[in-house]
Amino acid sequence: MLHTLNPAQRAAVQYLGGPCLVLAGAGSGKTRVITQKIAYLIETAGMDARNIAAITFTNKAAREMQERVSTLLPAPMLRGLTVSTFHSLGMRFLREEARHLGYKPQFSILDSADAWKIISDILQTTDKGLIRQTVSQISLLKNDRIGPDDALRNAASEGEMHLARLYRQYQDTLTAYQAVDFDDLIRLPVDLLERNDDVLQKWRSRLRYLLIDECQDTNTTQYDLVKLLCNVSGQFTAVGDDDQSIYAWRGANMENLRTLQDDFPQLRVIKLEQNYRSVARILRCANAVIANNPKLFEKTLWSELGVGDPIQVVETKNEEHEAELIAMKLLAHKFEAQTDFKDYAILYRSNFQARIIEQALREHRIPYQISGGQSFFDKAEIKDILAYLRLLVNDKDDPAFIRAVTTPKRGVGNVTLEKLGVYAQQRNISLYAAVYEEGFIHQVQAAQYTPLKDFADFIGRMQFRAPREPAGPLLMEMLKAIDYETWLYDSEEARPAETKWNTVMDFVDWIAKKGERDGKDLLELTQTIALITMLEGRDEEEVDAVKMTTLHASKGLEYPHVFLVGCEEEILPHQNSIEAGTVEEERRLMYVGITRAQRTLTITWCGKRRRAGEWQITQPSRFLKEMPVEDVRFSGRLAPDKNTPAITKQEARGMAASLLAKLS
Ligand code: ATP
Ligand code: MG
Repeated sequence: MLHTLNPAQRAAVQYLGGPCLVLAGAGSGKTRVITQKIAYLIETAGMDARNIAAITFTNKAAREMQERVSTLLPAPMLRGLTVSTFHSLGMRFLREEARHLGYKPQFSILDSADAWKIISDILQTTDKGLIRQTVSQISLLKNDRIGPDDALRNAASEGEMHLARLYRQYQDTLTAYQAVDFDDLIRLPVDLLERNDDVLQKWRSRLRYLLIDECQDTNTTQYDLVKLLCNVSGQFTAVGDDDQSIYAWRGANMENLRTLQDDFPQLRVIKLEQNYRSVARILRCANAVIANNPKLFEKTLWSELGVGDPIQVVETKNEEHEAELIAMKLLAHKFEAQTDFKDYAILYRSNFQARIIEQALREHRIPYQISGGQSFFDKAEIKDILAYLRLLVNDKDDPAFIRAVTTPKRGVGNVTLEKLGVYAQQRNISLYAAVYEEGFIHQVQAAQYTPLKDFADFIGRMQFRAPREPAGPLLMEMLKAIDYETWLYDSEEARPAETKWNTVMDFVDWIAKKGERDGKDLLELTQTIALITMLEGRDEEEVDAVKMTTLHASKGLEYPHVFLVGCEEEILPHQNSIEAGTVEEERRLMYVGITRAQRTLTITWCGKRRRAGEWQITQPSRFLKEMPVEDVRFSGRLAPDKNTPAITKQEARGMAASLLAKLS
């Protein structure tokens, strides 16, 4: 096993003397070190898989790591191994320790839209700016591990006092709903571990060795969690690359890499220098760009994979031509190099850029898969169904109750719901519980009460069946019972209704398959869905399709041929970053993008772009000028002779046609 590693990687895998940090650039095999080390710990060091936890950045990365490890060791040896994200680890922890925190194990996990709604209700406003600001301020407090009481105590101004009170109300609402938000999934475990020594000892003796991938993107709470779990002896291996820290906007703090050295003076730091992913030109290009950022740690990267083709930087007239050019180039390249569609990736800074490229791909019948866009689970029809499922998991989840009881409409009027709400609030009970209270029943007429009670009874019956029956068929039965399909067709035109119903059927399929594969019931699946973040969406089956993804979501992945699109000022670097003076983070994003490519890299930018309905002349990204001219072939305004014109849609088609003609 160890012979597939270079000496530095091997050293990192074999080192068990204490905490270990692998600090190295992109594609140098950091993730591979983690995978191999899991196998090494079990097979050679004789550790029980149950005592090992590997933490990755996305669920997808976790799945891939699990798959890779299972090619190294037989399944029985891997039983009980934890490979998960911080958030899923936090969820597992909370499920087990819920009672210490006043929660029951079936708590709800609120997504950002729910949190948004709660804040909007507390503030009694629909002012988006104000809500957004409050949501993010509370989130920052949470990530700095400041609770509502501390926030109030520390408040130095009227404004801070106001915020602290909002925070208190928000948190009380969550507790009443038996719900936690994303930040709580990490914050609550850390708080509990700090104050309850029994729990701490239990988890320390369970998770005896931690491995952390992408640790440059951990935030303070996550860092504290690691520190608590691995005590002073520091049985962990962390790997990371400060040049790929791209989540500062979510509270990630790459200084943690340095803090690690202070907190664990015995930390062994290992550097990797050989890149196994990219040809030399791509690597030189990445190194040249990132050299413009101040260095936290000195790193060098080289590869033995040959020089490779020059990076192409192409100016196109506008975004339609850009999309057309990409489709054409891709088809021509595929034909020439006899590759598969899945060997290509199209990376972009922001989701809005994807739409027009999708159109061009569809026009040319190029199959594609999008990840990191509007998540499947964010669609209204899926959220409708999820509201029911959440209610099965936790009937104190009032937001889910409201959504489910009104979708489809079942003759429960607003007045009745309002009475129910007031009653529940006075008694401090959930809406669901209030349905069965005498005091409430007396307030409404029978015609109003019956549909409400039928609904609650239905939920009760489903709650009973959910842990006992296979997930897929039960969900299907539920959809029939609520007659969701009819409701869709009643409330929409036939076409959108059909699309939505198909989405719901996709969801049922997905639940059925996942339920069977993981042996999970509807309740367990529902709790996991909450953790499928915006970053990834539903796990897609591997098919032969071009991958389209944001730069953020491409972290850790690799593709033979990469198109990096929209490299213009105000897109990459993003306008907000230019204004906020955080261009360095955008440069790291550019570095991440470039280093995803194994063999070829094509970068495009538009001379003109439509913004808010108006054409605007754009400037090429400053990062393009930081690339080494000897490794790049520029066309358009950046070309050395300046006369090479931007490529138009017709020319792109012409080029591809003549190439195809030549080849056939
Ligand atoms: P990133 O910073 O982008 O996350 P990384 O440092 O985690 O990259 P890996 O993804 O682990 O790098 O490795 C990059 C590629 O190089 C993978 O395809 C991996 O299989 C391969 N690789 C790593 N180490 C070796 C090695 N010693 N021999 C051959 N191939 C290797
Ligand atoms: Mg990696």
